[in-house]
Amino acid sequence: MASLLGAQAPLTRVAIFGGTHGNELSGVLLVKHWEEDGAEVQRPGLRVTPFISNPRAVQRGVRYVDCDLNRVFDAARLGQEPPEDRPYEVGRAQEIRRLFGAYDVILDLHNTTSNMGCALILESSQDDLLIQMFRYIQSSLAPTPCFVYLIDHPSLKYATTRSIAKHPVGIEVGPQPQGVLRADILQQMRSMVKHALDFIQFFNEGKEFPACSLEVYQVTGKVDYPRKANGEIAAVIHPSLQDQDWKPLRPGEPTFLTLDGATIPFDGDAPVYPVFVNEAAYYEKGEAFAKTRRVTLTARRLNAAPAGSAP
Ligand SMILES: [Zn+2]
Repeated sequence: MASLLGAQAPLTRVAIFGGTHGNELSGVLLVKHWEEDGAEVQRPGLRVTPFISNPRAVQRGVRYVDCDLNRVFDAARLGQEPPEDRPYEVGRAQEIRRLFGAYDVILDLHNTTSNMGCALILESSQDDLLIQMFRYIQSSLAPTPCFVYLIDHPSLKYATTRSIAKHPVGIEVGPQPQGVLRADILQQMRSMVKHALDFIQFFNEGKEFPACSLEVYQVTGKVDYPRKANGEIAAVIHPSLQDQDWKPLRPGEPTFLTLDGATIPFDGDAPVYPVFVNEAAYYEKGEAFAKTRRVTLTARRLNAAPAGSAP
């Protein structure tokens, strides 16, 4: 294929998910607001659907009821016949796929307790449209930084709620405690959604986006807390690593601190860029932080077929 991607068909159906995790409240509040008054998220020629993805978890103020909704969109569970003991979130996942499986873009709104600032989560390094969108969001947010976390690892990738769309977009903003609303975090998330929708509108109007590159942080592994034989945590994130998401952690640098005051150094053989450092929801997943490496992706020149033109 030539260096021009497209002309692609316009994107017509977009969903905005809040409450995929019921205790990540920025997205819950924004989506409920847009369900009442959606003028802010409507764009000409586009159907934008705000949607609370896990209403039972939202009502209870918890991450999930039976199991993590953001991990069950794999073929096995989506194809599961509905038995009586089916977890709530598996049934919900099947319903969400039925409703949104043909959507072009899903913006899935999350908060993290980690100091990650504005972050976008990319599932494929081949998705030129999203690479272009993320560049656009970054430049629109500047000078506020906006980082991109790439989760295309063959064994670490998980079956996200948004993965049913052609172009799945994770929007992750922190730090914000679970069950808490902070105005600064809410406003950052709101801006990211605005810029994402603006990009889609410009793309549909036939605006051309030149070839671009995008720096991303690609997941390479997960690091668990040191644990006792019974599985309990034996050390905490070291103060010098706390809040240092996206910054290099070099071999030998302090990583954990034991209750005896001993420092446990990072035992990798090369620097990594930690993300999701001390994320509250990941204690149960055995993850103190994720290791990433910096990679530069490129995207071809992009423009859509203007509406009404021949394919
Ligand atoms: Zn989440």
